[in-house]
Amino acid sequence: MSTKPKIAMYWAASCGGCEIALVNLHEKILDVDAAFDFYFCPCLLDTKTNDIKALPDGELAITFFNGGIRTEENLEMARLLRKKSQILIAFGSCAIEGCIPGLANLTAAKSLIDTIYHDNITIDNPEQITPDPQTQVAEGPLGVPAFRDTLQTLAQVTEVDYFIPGCPPESHQIWQAIAALTAPAGPPPIGSVLGSGPSTVCVECRREKTDKKINRFFRNYEIIPSETECLLEQGLLCLGIATRQGCGGLCPEVNMPCTGCYGPPAGRSDQGARMTAALGSILDLGDTKGINESELLARIEQALGTIPDPVGTFYKYSLAGSIPGGRQDP
Ligand code: SF4
Repeated sequence: MSTKPKIAMYWAASCGGCEIALVNLHEKILDVDAAFDFYFCPCLLDTKTNDIKALPDGELAITFFNGGIRTEENLEMARLLRKKSQILIAFGSCAIEGCIPGLANLTAAKSLIDTIYHDNITIDNPEQITPDPQTQVAEGPLGVPAFRDTLQTLAQVTEVDYFIPGCPPESHQIWQAIAALTAPAGPPPIGSVLGSGPSTVCVECRREKTDKKINRFFRNYEIIPSETECLLEQGLLCLGIATRQGCGGLCPEVNMPCTGCYGPPAGRSDQGARMTAALGSILDLGDTKGINESELLARIEQALGTIPDPVGTFYKYSLAGSIPGGRQDP
């Protein structure tokens, strides 16, 4: 039996990209293996939930928890792993702020089920069957985890010690986080964001900003942007200004606007509100001297009308953890 400290990685409502990011540590994963007993990871190992239930509380040194809380099973595992872990880390955008699955909070749970199982041209379901949490079959009762009303973040359902942002986190950040947690000086303060700095993607981006104003926005396919100027100042909705640094500015580097996957920077709790405020300072509404309020509003609406999906753009990753998404601050 291994005497090394145990680590775990669990996925709730997520896509599996976080596990790929872990495997992308390449040969450094051997260092992780040398220092830890990799004990539980449904994607990679065959350890069962009952094995976790049988452990003494706090037996897992570190658990990386990725994914949002969408089903009763996600909730049960979040609470179980909290109890069994000395350190619980919200790993990646889904666990921290809901990410893409959190956009489903814009739609009532019943409508989601109807769309998935009934009102969908690719579905052949003449008996209108919907999965029930409990079904009796010849072999006995069959259960599937119940679908909850909304998707919640990990910190909305249990105490979280650290956060590692990203969709998924970059592998170098994962390594930095492990190094920080095992440093001889002791781990960082509880509540810290690991593996990334406090500022924005803009500080990592090599593009030139000139305080240029814009009077409309473009979708990515509508223009071919300059490769050296700030994308936002060319009218592309780049969320770098409202997004935590850490990725190295990968998307703007290849002419793609930042979509915000690292969540808000330090000191900002609502990414969409931060982005909306930033747009206020970049919009060119023409000469507004002497115009009345309704004309001013019309110009603002005209400029903002070129943004096709404001919630999906400004809260693409952070809706479930945001104020409009139902977050309640203590
Ligand atoms: Fe770079 Fe986007 Fe920031 Fe402009 S807004 S500096 S393109 S990250």
